[in-house]
Amino acid sequence: MNRHRFSTEEISIFRRSLLAWYDIHKRKLPWRDWHDIDTNIVAYRVLVSELMLQQTQVATVIRYYETWMKQWPNIKSLAEASEDDILKCWAGIIIDSIFYWSYFFHLGLGYYNRARNLYKCAQLIINEYNGEFPNELETMINRLPGVGRYTAGAVSSIAFNQANPILDGNVIRVLSRMRCIGSDLKKKSTTDFLWSLATDVVCPERPGDFNQSLMELGATVCTPQKPKCNECPVQNQCLAYQQQKEIESILDIEQCSANCSFCLKSSDVDTNRSLVEHYPRKKSKTKQREETSFILIIYRLTPKLEFLMIKQKQSNLLSGLWSFLEISSSKNHLDQMNEQKRKTYIIEEIQQMPTIDTIPSINNIKLAGQCRHLFSHIDKQYIIYYTHCEQNDVLIPSTSMQWFNEEQVQTSAISTAMKKVFNVALPQIKLKTSNGKKNGTIDNYFKKKNSKV
Ligand SMILES: [Zn+2]
Repeated sequence: MNRHRFSTEEISIFRRSLLAWYDIHKRKLPWRDWHDIDTNIVAYRVLVSELMLQQTQVATVIRYYETWMKQWPNIKSLAEASEDDILKCWAGIIIDSIFYWSYFFHLGLGYYNRARNLYKCAQLIINEYNGEFPNELETMINRLPGVGRYTAGAVSSIAFNQANPILDGNVIRVLSRMRCIGSDLKKKSTTDFLWSLATDVVCPERPGDFNQSLMELGATVCTPQKPKCNECPVQNQCLAYQQQKEIESILDIEQCSANCSFCLKSSDVDTNRSLVEHYPRKKSKTKQREETSFILIIYRLTPKLEFLMIKQKQSNLLSGLWSFLEISSSKNHLDQMNEQKRKTYIIEEIQQMPTIDTIPSINNIKLAGQCRHLFSHIDKQYIIYYTHCEQNDVLIPSTSMQWFNEEQVQTSAISTAMKKVFNVALPQIKLKTSNGKKNGTIDNYFKKKNSKV
């Protein structure tokens, strides 16, 4: 049994529980408010409300929906209206909606197309269907301008009581949580699977109410952030919720056999969020974790300039590559330290490194600067220091620790991040050494430099 599908028994409990909840908790919305109205008008109302809701929040839509319905209470009146009046009403929605600012960017990109399509639908229904809203799902999708699988599913289930599924953002969230669908929504296999789940669950007795109850649950309980799982009527059928309660470690989320294409991958897990909130999988790239490291570059003059490098251990992100001495630090920790404390911290940490027992005494370390490198999962900030190793403090070279000259550093197996680090520090080390070797003081160095000009 594939755990990403509902069993027959689960489906019947799901329908019963959700509809019972919906009957009590549904919000009073004007497009839901009808009694004994003919299906033609219901279909029209559903169409108008669904198209309005595609770009705007419920609270804003209510006002415009009511204005719209007063002006054009049925398909015939809309078909006879002027396009100008329709666009004017629609413009009010856009300007008044939460999309106010993005309106300016989307102006040419089809926000008005929904209003124009509604108008075209009305004319087409009057001219070609004798004023009767077509009730076949395929006809709606193929003939009515701007009507896709979702809108046709909503109209056919709500107005014509047909057991057709719907799948919008709310329904995707509810279903992917209930069945732990953690695969990429951009993949056709994922959306195809979600459509098939929506088809499985839609209730044949009350398809319109059932579809609306799914959307309502997504809008009011099963919200993107901080879902109200304790108020959820279908908590017992929700795999994500069950898993969140039961699993020992959040890393146990891949419960199917290997290579299941629908399970969330443990690499997608963000421990700052609850497990339920991981579904559906975020479309955007996972945010890189921020890290900070101190780097200490130890150099010597033999008399050529040489740099101490160590080979990264196997467990490290950059295992096998050569690196300068690196001490990781947390953001919190970093903020608590002033410059002097940082230096003391670095020295202490270096002396405690197991591989660095042959290191000479270091006490005079200097700040070279900072740089940043983006790894696939980590946004890393390097704070770079350098220090001079007296020649007589000879380090024992080993397979994991060696002196590299400048050319060797540039050509050896070192990471891009370490190359960046090196390029920040090198000019300063050179300045320091040319200064130290020939003239003794920085002042002399600059005097010399200026005299050249
Ligand atoms: Zn799976």
